[in-house]
Amino acid sequence: MGSSAIDDYLKAIFQIAGDNNRATTASLAEKLSVSPASVTGMLKKLSDVEPPWIEYQKHRGARLSPRGRARALEVIRHHRLIELFLHTVLGYRWDQVHAEAERLEHAISETFEDRIAEVLGDPEFDPHGHPIPRRDGTLPIRSDTSLLHMEPDTVAVVSRVSDQDSEMLQYLSSVGVKPGVRIHLVERGPFDGPLMLRVEKAAKVHAFGRRLAAAIRVRKLQGAGS
Ligand SMILES: [Zn+2]
Ligand SMILES: [Zn+2]
Repeated sequence: MGSSAIDDYLKAIFQIAGDNNRATTASLAEKLSVSPASVTGMLKKLSDVEPPWIEYQKHRGARLSPRGRARALEVIRHHRLIELFLHTVLGYRWDQVHAEAERLEHAISETFEDRIAEVLGDPEFDPHGHPIPRRDGTLPIRSDTSLLHMEPDTVAVVSRVSDQDSEMLQYLSSVGVKPGVRIHLVERGPFDGPLMLRVEKAAKVHAFGRRLAAAIRVRKLQGAGS
């Protein structure tokens, strides 16, 4: 097994399960686009090495060991620093950085990582608003909630957006949605209908379906109106 394959599994387990839960075979198969049988084989290997990367039980799924957690956060740190570097220094659009970072995250040295962090002033968040793990393995915390839970006629600030779908990111740019921007939920359609949103002080109201809204997290502000 190559080290970038190990990294991808550890990162996926951390992203699915966080610190306290287990990632199931099915959820990993879906996230990594591989068959459940190959996930099972890989999880066995990751738990059989010494020291183990993960703790694995057939019917309960996988949990990261301290070694696995440290490695997952290291790879996520690489990924998010690279995204921010590509975006702010090299001028990549925010919908282009994720695919590039997926390749480069496995390749950069610790020196290169340190240089990027230094040039960018030890940043805490990437271009999509995701926290960049610190060198010591802690994560900057910013409490936020899904846009789906916003109350009608309230204002919130976008804190992060999913980086998985570049077409979605292009759409969000075209309507001005990015971390730090204020949005006003004008109204919510009945029966799980669309969310009608105004971005900053723009006159136009955009209809966001549930899939789009689910990809966005916000910090609530007090008070209504725009
Ligand atoms: Zn990314
Ligand atoms: Zn990102």
